[in-house]
Amino acid sequence: MSGNAVRLQAIKDVEAYVPPAVSYLAHEAPGEIFGVNVFSKAVMQKRLPKSVFKSVMSTIDHSAPLDPLIADAVASAMKDWALEKGATHYAHVFYPLTGLTAEKHDSFLEPVGDGSALAEFAGSALTRGEPDASSFPSGGLRNTFEARGYTGWDVTSPAYVLESPNGNTLCIPTVFVSMTGEALDHKTPLLRSQQAMAEHAERILRLFGHEPSRVVSYCGAEQEYFLVDRHFFLARPDLLNAGRTLLGSKPPKGQEFDDHYFGAIPERVLGFMMDSERELFKLGIPAKTRHNEVAPGQFEIAPMFEQANVAADHQQLLMTTFKSVAKKHGMECLFHEKPFAGVNGSGKHVNFSLGNATQGNLLFPGDNPHDNAQFLVFCSAVIRAVHLYGGLLRASVASASNDHRLGANEAPPAIISIFLGDQLADVFEQIAKGAATSSKGHGTLMVGVDTLPSLPSDPGDRNRTSPFAFTGNRFEFRAPGSMQSVAGPMTTINTIMAEAMDYIATDLEKAVASGTEFNTAVQNLLTEIITNHGASVFNGNGYSDEWQVEAAARGLPNLRTTLDALPELISEPAMALFERYNVLNRREMHSRYDIGLEQYALSIGVEARVTLEVGRTLVAPAAVRFQTELAVNLAALRAVGIEGDMAGLEAVSTPLADLRVALVNLAAALDHDGGTTLAEAEHARDALLPAMAAVRSAADRLEGIVADDLWPLPTYQEMLFIL
Ligand code: ADP
Ligand code: MG
Repeated sequence: MSGNAVRLQAIKDVEAYVPPAVSYLAHEAPGEIFGVNVFSKAVMQKRLPKSVFKSVMSTIDHSAPLDPLIADAVASAMKDWALEKGATHYAHVFYPLTGLTAEKHDSFLEPVGDGSALAEFAGSALTRGEPDASSFPSGGLRNTFEARGYTGWDVTSPAYVLESPNGNTLCIPTVFVSMTGEALDHKTPLLRSQQAMAEHAERILRLFGHEPSRVVSYCGAEQEYFLVDRHFFLARPDLLNAGRTLLGSKPPKGQEFDDHYFGAIPERVLGFMMDSERELFKLGIPAKTRHNEVAPGQFEIAPMFEQANVAADHQQLLMTTFKSVAKKHGMECLFHEKPFAGVNGSGKHVNFSLGNATQGNLLFPGDNPHDNAQFLVFCSAVIRAVHLYGGLLRASVASASNDHRLGANEAPPAIISIFLGDQLADVFEQIAKGAATSSKGHGTLMVGVDTLPSLPSDPGDRNRTSPFAFTGNRFEFRAPGSMQSVAGPMTTINTIMAEAMDYIATDLEKAVASGTEFNTAVQNLLTEIITNHGASVFNGNGYSDEWQVEAAARGLPNLRTTLDALPELISEPAMALFERYNVLNRREMHSRYDIGLEQYALSIGVEARVTLEVGRTLVAPAAVRFQTELAVNLAALRAVGIEGDMAGLEAVSTPLADLRVALVNLAAALDHDGGTTLAEAEHARDALLPAMAAVRSAADRLEGIVADDLWPLPTYQEMLFIL
């Protein structure tokens, strides 16, 4: 069998591929299926006794745990509804710190004495589950003798029925905490941070004369992803095990042609998109736009923004749904931040705003001086927050895979700065000058008196190189990676905003109490904030070398890699911050730091082992065969007195020799026990990554030389352009 048999078969299979029949009727309106599988407020209103429904609603509004006295009634209604939807099992769904989604399944059916079974689902099954926590990272929060963790329904996130060919499951979004109540997941701190943020936002609104309803933060996440045919995927051990290609040379036709962005979507991909959107609709996930991204094979989906906590759950569910629907369509959905070297990576832009029912979106500029003043105050909170805690924002998106993006001139740099746009930047410049002149005669804007120049609601010229950009009525945090949960970044944004708004509310309350006129107090505050924290505002090119220099001069941290960023989590200011706002205590912060290191070392360790295996068992043998062919050819020619292509033989022998050396070095680097988690992580960065790079360099040179019919791995060209 020839060396490229697997590859050729994959290509044949791709060409013979017949897309699955569309599983729904073309005339079906999205409205008919939206949320059909969700135990929504409307369903609860219909099925719960009035008093129980009212109690659940107030629980949702206050993000409190479910009252055990009403849990039985809710559970019973939920069970009946789920059974009608064909569910046989229920699962507590939680979000451990691996970033993945975990589920603990149980059957509704309880055997009874007479040998039959009874559908059972008590309130306690809703409010408390006990998955074995020992298989999830805890960063030292869980003693080995007490491996239990608890899950409990987060009432603010609706339960839903997940369909699968093997049966339907009632899924209950839950928090996941240790015996001692410490957070083992992403959801718990997100909920806590919402509370903190809300409290201080509402203080500010009261200063502006409102009687505010509960403030919440909103999140709209734009998800980028790649699709590759599963035949290729299965023929690449690196994609299969590490989610990214660990070797492979750039395609001759890359993204430099830029003909992919917003180009036509291949029919097969469109089929996948329609199918997955339908699944998302059923689950009540408002999926919206779709267009091709910069890279070939890359796409994006942006669900409508929702309350951050629900958006985070939906985002996780979206990823699971995409994975399974893609498989159904013969493709693999890749969420890795950098599946292909030399080709644009994938991010997950987190669009953030805050607001409530009574005042609306607090980051909307408004159209009279009073509303403008309030808007500027909330904007200034963002400026202070990002300036003081830019390092923490960077740490909130730190991972081995996201390191490939940040700072690689395709995603925002690792320096966290704010882009305000020309108009808003100009307004803040005037406010800064106001400190000196405080008079309109000098061209400064009087807060609360003048109306802002109109800010474009979705500025077309917005700066794509900025990690934290104002986009008309929200900020867009562009550093999060495509694979990451949005809960981490949202928790950080909520918490640093809580601090900034606490500071602002306290300052304004004091000023007003001491008799300062309110508009003057606001003007003074804004001047102070922009003067002290304006260093984080940068409207220029974030990719330029000059910015690196200037940012350093401004004192902004440039935390290039995960290992540079993670220590931010256990820095004194960060721990004091998270403790003060009851989001994470010191032990919890330490555990997150440890888990960050552990995940970093683990994922690079896997990559290193796969690189070694692919190098040894696929690349080196292919190169040896080709080398032998050339040598045999040379000998045959020499026997009849002809001088063959000696240089051609050397062209394969040299990189093959390099490959062998690199493989030996990589094997040696893998044979290592660092002792501590930090030592392991440092070893991954300092020894494994360079050793892998050396293997890749030799292998990629060989790929350009070895005869195509001997090359065993699907090429970039094949994976990216055949769909
Ligand atoms: P882009 O031009 O950045 O690709 P998209 O329309 O694709 O814009 O995505 C924008 C995302 O921002 C969507 O998820 C959208 O729902 C979300 N979004 C819009 N307004 C807000 C807001 N006020 N708060 C949070 N997210 C928002
Ligand atoms: Mg965007």
